[in-house]
Amino acid sequence: MRFETKAVHSGGQVDEGSGAVAPPIHLSTTFERSASDGGPSRGFSYIRDSNPTQARLEEALAAIDSAEGALAFASGMAAVSALMQSVPSGSHVVLADDGYYAVRVLASDFFPRWGLSYDLVPMETTSAVQRALLPNTRAVWCESPSNPLMKIVDLRALAAVTHSAGAILIADNTFATPALQRPIELGADVVMHSTTKYLGGHSDVQGGSLAFRARNDWYERAEHARTIAGGVASPFNSWLVLRGIRSLAARMRVHCENARIVARFLEKHRGVEAVHYPGLSSHPGHEIAARQMSDFGGMMSFRVKGGREEALRVAGRTRVFVRATSLGGTESLIEHRASSEGPTSRTPENLLRLSIGLEHPEDLVEDLAQALE
Ligand SMILES: *Cc1c(COP(=O)(O)O)cnc(C)c1O
Repeated sequence: MRFETKAVHSGGQVDEGSGAVAPPIHLSTTFERSASDGGPSRGFSYIRDSNPTQARLEEALAAIDSAEGALAFASGMAAVSALMQSVPSGSHVVLADDGYYAVRVLASDFFPRWGLSYDLVPMETTSAVQRALLPNTRAVWCESPSNPLMKIVDLRALAAVTHSAGAILIADNTFATPALQRPIELGADVVMHSTTKYLGGHSDVQGGSLAFRARNDWYERAEHARTIAGGVASPFNSWLVLRGIRSLAARMRVHCENARIVARFLEKHRGVEAVHYPGLSSHPGHEIAARQMSDFGGMMSFRVKGGREEALRVAGRTRVFVRATSLGGTESLIEHRASSEGPTSRTPENLLRLSIGLEHPEDLVEDLAQALE
């Protein structure tokens, strides 16, 4: 089955009891046990272990990422934490130098307590990752395109290098989404999403997910970490993410089309120093992105000429773009990323990040044109 069809149907069995086509939301925290042996009578026991709405979502998450199994979480960071809590103590982890900032905060503030060491590496250079691998490296955590510089990682090459060191490759696929890029098909072992973003798709639900190439011991350990540490999604949030997945393929087409138009406009603007969008042939990762993604996505960042003041001035003047963090919703967002990330930010002060929404592209271009005046 092709991607669009899987996204529309997976986890969508008609409800046995009622014939409902849209899935029911089961809010029950507890499930009847069998009269004979006291075990779970229909596979479910307690909401924190698993529940029917979450199970439907996980079926869909596995299907769209070409995975053998998937786990849903309360947030993207709950998914990241559960996976990092699954790394054996005493291990070394390689992280991307440009990647979601809270992952770096998790590493600096919690890895030492968990007995993990790490290095930040520019992953657009595969040989830099190769040099960073140590005998006790168990995991390489990459992000492509990366947040917020939109760096592209050669996932196939990185998987080969990582595996030859006996480690697993984990890919944060939040920006690309499985509609455009499926890292497991390129060699990754685990795919992580902040489903808060494109999978939910409407800026109204928080969630995270892990999809596993194989239902192996990493899957088992991450599931155990979720059950015991408790970063579980609510049934309603699971349902909203499942609902978002239904329209993911269609939404991504428009996000990509609009982003292409905005990127071309920005690239030609004299007030703009640089545009970071992998769909532009000027982007250093363009060719790799064209190989491993079916399109280039709805995220980009650009640097205005001038510094922090000028960037804040431009963001302060938009009327269609809303000034807010996060991404992947129907509405376009503009963000001064260094301000959002705070004092430990590595992001250039003149950088603005855009999440391109589903508005008419000419309204987006006109809005940026008047803001840059
Ligand atoms: C938002 C985001 C996360 C974290 O997800 P939350 O749902 O906010 O916890 C991780 N990685 C990327 C790339 C993100 O954009």
